[in-house]
Formats: sequence, C-alpha cells, structure tokens
Amino acid sequence: MTENKRLLILGGIGEAAALADQAVSQFSGRLDVIYSLAGRVKPVREHTAHVRVGGFGGGPGLANFIKDEGIDLVIDATHPFAATISAHAFDACQATETPRLMFARPPWALPPSVKFLEAEDMADALGQLSNFAKRVLVTTGQSDLDALDDFPEIHFVIRVIEEPGEPLAGENHTLITGRPPYNLDDELALMQEHAIDTLLAKQSGGEGTVAKITAAIRNRIPIVLLRRPPREPGEAVQSAAAALLWLESRV
Ligand code: NAP
Repeated sequence: MTENKRLLILGGIGEAAALADQAVSQFSGRLDVIYSLAGRVKPVREHTAHVRVGGFGGGPGLANFIKDEGIDLVIDATHPFAATISAHAFDACQATETPRLMFARPPWALPPSVKFLEAEDMADALGQLSNFAKRVLVTTGQSDLDALDDFPEIHFVIRVIEEPGEPLAGENHTLITGRPPYNLDDELALMQEHAIDTLLAKQSGGEGTVAKITAAIRNRIPIVLLRRPPREPGEAVQSAAAALLWLESRV
C-alpha cells in the first residue's frame, strides 16, 4: 500500500477553509490535509482537515515543519494582504524543493462608472481621503490604525473582527466588531446609522466582504481601496476548482 501524500494549506480565510474541506473529501484515502492558521482570531468553524494553529518561526521554521511533517505539497491560500507568510512559503518551498501553489481570490472588479481611489498604503489612503471625507468606515484590519490620530477632523468608524488587545489611542473613532460574511442590507444600515460618507477598505476580493463595496456604490460614496501587495512568483490560481485540478495531477 502506498502512503498518502501530505498537503499543507496555509489558510485564514473562508475560501481556504472551503478548499481544505473539498480536498479532504475529493482525495480521501490518497491525501492527508493539514490546514494551518496563524491563530490571530478565534476559529469559528469546524474543519474536516487536521488543523494546526500558530506561526512556524519564519521561513526557516516553515521549512523545518515541511521536512519534519513530511509535507509533499503546499498551497498558500492566505489572504491577499498576508504578504509575510506568502514570502516565507516561497522561501521554505524553494529550500525544501516542495511544489507550491498560490490560491488567491480575484480582486473585486468595480464597474467603470464607479468612483474609487487606489492607495499604496494607509498613509497614502488617509492623505487622499482627507481632502473630502468627514465620516469614514474603515475595514482594513487592526494594522496602522494609529495613523488615524493624525486626522482629528475626520471621524472613523473602525470595524474589526475582534476587539484589539490594547484600546486604540485617540478620540476620533468608533470601534465596532463584526465577522464576515456580511450582507447588503446590514452594510447599508451600518452606513446609514453612522452617516458614513467614505469607505476605506483593502482590495481583498471575495464574496464574504463585497457587500460593503456594493453598499458604498449604492450610496454613491467614494471608495478608497488599498492596493494588494505584490504576489510571490510561482504557479497561481484564482479558484478552488483550479486548485483541486492542480492537486489531482500530483496526488
Ligand atoms: P502575515 O503578516 O503575512 O504573517 C505574519 C506571521 O503570521 C507569519 O510570519 C507567520 O508567523 C504567521 N502566519 C500567517 N499566516 C499563517 C498561517 N496561515 N499559518 C501559520 N502561521 C501564519 O499575515 P497577517 O496579514 O497578519 O494575517 C494573519 C492570518 O490572517 C493569515 O493566515 C491570513 O490568511 C489571515 N487574514 C489576513 C487578513 C489581512 O488583511 N492581512 C485578512 C483576513 C485574514 P511565523 O513567521 O512565525 O511563521
């Protein structure tokens, strides 16, 4: 009897978890699936794959994990803005000669008629929106929020998945929590309740958080999108179906 191949999926978003479930069911008896989470937020769903939680200790730590666990294949299905783990996956797979696939959902395609601005980073985004915004819905996560302090004339409604460990500095914000998926009615109601006149978000793509974009378009408010960081080189797909085909040829 031949041994099962071992697949490591670097996850942390809904699409990655769904891919892990699909890989378990499609390759049952041929593939062991290990699903890896950073552990930043509490897990909210059951997984059929074996789940491990926590960092590996950089690229070398991930390379050791691949060797120690006998990993044959890696799929980097992390969030498009999780650039550090993707760089580590690139390095570790090079070092261990492990085939690696990147699975990144496509960016949102906004209709050409929609007014939106693109920004390199938070500082760039805030510089742009400070020209017109008064009440901004911020959905960019917990990083770089200190920069909001520099714009006391703007009120920021910051939505995060879980309360930050340390309270945010500054007075010019309202902190709310929420967990995707979001629906359009709720996003419209939220924008109305907080009199939002601008949306600041990441160009994340994906179905789970697109409702805020649709709501902003519906309300005709400006959208400022942080650009995705550059992707690591290598094979990449945009759908779970394509990732499963990649696996089929290797398992
Ligand atoms: P990051 O900056 O790219 O990674 C920071 C460190 O977190 C990595 O160096 C690694 O630690 C650890 N890590 C990240 N993803 C991991 C995974 N799937 N399994 C094990 N360790 C992981 O990542 P981030 O932007 O903080 O995001 C953290 C996680 O949240 C990612 O898994 C991502 O998919 C998910 N997420 C991110 C965003 C976002 O906007 N960035 C949004 C939604 C979900 P070591 O160096 O110790 O290995």
